[in-house]
Amino acid sequence: MTDHVFYPWSAQAGLNAPTIVGASGSHFWDDKGNRYLDFSSQLVNVNIGHQHPDIVAAIIAQAQQLATISPTVGNEVRSELARLIVERAPGDLNRILFTTGGAEAVEHAVRLARSFTGRTKMLAAYRSYHGGTGVAIGLTGEPRRWGAEPTNVDVVRFFGPYPYRSPWETSTPEEETTAALRHLRQVIELEGPQNIAGLILETVVGTNGVLVPPPGYLAGVRALCDEFGIVYIADEVMVGFGRVGQWFAVQEFGVAPDLITFAKGVNSGYVPLGGVLIAERIAQRYDHTVYPGGLTYAGHPLACAAGVASIEVFERDGILDHVRSVGADVLGKGLRELAARHPSVGEVRGLGFFWALELVRDPETREPLVPFAAAGAAAEPMAKVTAAAKARGVWPFNVGNRFQIAPPLTTSADELRTGLEIVDEVLEVADEYVT
Ligand code: PLP
Repeated sequence: MTDHVFYPWSAQAGLNAPTIVGASGSHFWDDKGNRYLDFSSQLVNVNIGHQHPDIVAAIIAQAQQLATISPTVGNEVRSELARLIVERAPGDLNRILFTTGGAEAVEHAVRLARSFTGRTKMLAAYRSYHGGTGVAIGLTGEPRRWGAEPTNVDVVRFFGPYPYRSPWETSTPEEETTAALRHLRQVIELEGPQNIAGLILETVVGTNGVLVPPPGYLAGVRALCDEFGIVYIADEVMVGFGRVGQWFAVQEFGVAPDLITFAKGVNSGYVPLGGVLIAERIAQRYDHTVYPGGLTYAGHPLACAAGVASIEVFERDGILDHVRSVGADVLGKGLRELAARHPSVGEVRGLGFFWALELVRDPETREPLVPFAAAGAAAEPMAKVTAAAKARGVWPFNVGNRFQIAPPLTTSADELRTGLEIVDEVLEVADEYVT
């Protein structure tokens, strides 16, 4: 590509991404006539699929009625979306601060936690991504933060559970939960709980490996936050709005956080939107005290209209049920069958329409197919795997040594099976590296 656009997270020279000219449902295509089955929902955001006619129609209708209006005044469609979201949220998460995306939602969640508690320190996990702006990138626990350092965010990092590569070398998910909670308690005690404003955690860790928390972990985090007066922020920018078959992923684990950050799937990114769901007791603090923050385009009417239409389609078409049943029966089952045939697959993890195959060079030692934060020649094996998928018309969400799959939630069982047949072929490329 040679143009005047400066592309994110990339060296600008030699970028050879295709130019996309159209999309429909679970597919998109480029200017050369190549068609791709979208196994990434772009950046895990197009949950409802591409060019959904109901969403497009809602945006057009809203544009004709009221295309834009300040976030400081009342607006029907914004209030309607807030009501629809709150009705589907857990606990007493009863009010919404709208933003235009995920990173801004994280910025405001942290501001709320700090101003509510009067404390400054934040706890955040290694192997996490929370967004590309000041505070959000400072909280992030993976290599994308390195280029932004020093971030001066007053963050303390902890290890979340990861049974396949346990920091505590445990051998069962239950042991991992116990060890991870013991570790977190120690971090809190050593940092001084009276100094800690909030803890931010992806409910299912997304970009960093589709790490599903083992049983009891999130309930344990909730209990520690309660014990020490720490605001529990669930970052559901990637996994909220149906990705794992629930409106909010915490509902899968029976936990109600104090704040939930969301974006992406709320309206599938047809118009940028994000927000923070706020527990009533925190929101009430600002009933007679000014909240210190705001954004010109927060809760944009076109974005909110897309959000209202999206929730209506989810309900009408039974999308959450589809994600739960087809996610388990077709994706989960199909991927486990592939794992049994391909020695390069060390572990299959996931839930709903969100899965990762962790690729290894040696299933015994679990040596990853490429090292952590590999670049250039060291990253080549994964680059070849990803290229092989794209050459066969499947567009995955690969990161590090994982083949990650996150299709639009409207993808049919047959489309998923077609994609899995191609993944089967592609894994032969990874198998060649197995020693
Ligand atoms: N939080 C999580 C868990 C994410 O996955 C992302 C984006 O991938 C963000 C925050 C940042 O969202 P955005 O890119 O909309 O700013």
